[in-house]
Amino acid sequence: MRNRRNRIIMAGVTFIVALSSLFAQGGKEISADNGSEGILLMREEEKLARDVYLTLYDLYSVPVFLNIAQSEQRHTDSVKWLIEQKGLTDPVISDEIGEFSDDELQQLYQVLIEQGSQSLSQAFIVGALVEELDIYDIERLLEDEDDIQIIRVYDNLLEGSMNHLRSFYSKIVKSGEDYLPSYITEDRFQQIVQ
Ligand code: ZN
Ligand code: ZN
Repeated sequence: MRNRRNRIIMAGVTFIVALSSLFAQGGKEISADNGSEGILLMREEEKLARDVYLTLYDLYSVPVFLNIAQSEQRHTDSVKWLIEQKGLTDPVISDEIGEFSDDELQQLYQVLIEQGSQSLSQAFIVGALVEELDIYDIERLLEDEDDIQIIRVYDNLLEGSMNHLRSFYSKIVKSGEDYLPSYITEDRFQQIVQ
């Protein structure tokens, strides 16, 4: 159990290192003074989720990945709609699986696929990590957001992510693995999965 948890923490550390320059940890505020950065991030983060699940579905043919990938397609499309509404420039230049404008997300995609390729239970753990990251980011962005159009889209993404996290967590438990959150707090995690 200890080793397993350590491996998960190690993976989490890689993600946090990969993402640290994206987020406020380094002092870069995404949403307080510039809500558009948050929108652009979420557009590619939802695409990242879709691409990771499509790739894992290719590997394992387990329906949960395909079902959730379809939901992520709707999510990334809804952020694209928001980008158009706000007259922003879409960061998604290529819709190809595994191609991102953002270098950090590009790197994160590789790390997630590497981990998810190890075994089916690791793939479920990757799913939970992606959803957790999504929840962490959306809740942060919502805190400073007062544009009702943006809030509606984010609320919808958040609701989806919480459902997805529950799905992946139940798969993890059924496969006999353990999971502790890397991004959101243990309390928030328990609130969502219980
Ligand atoms: Zn999503
Ligand atoms: Zn999701």
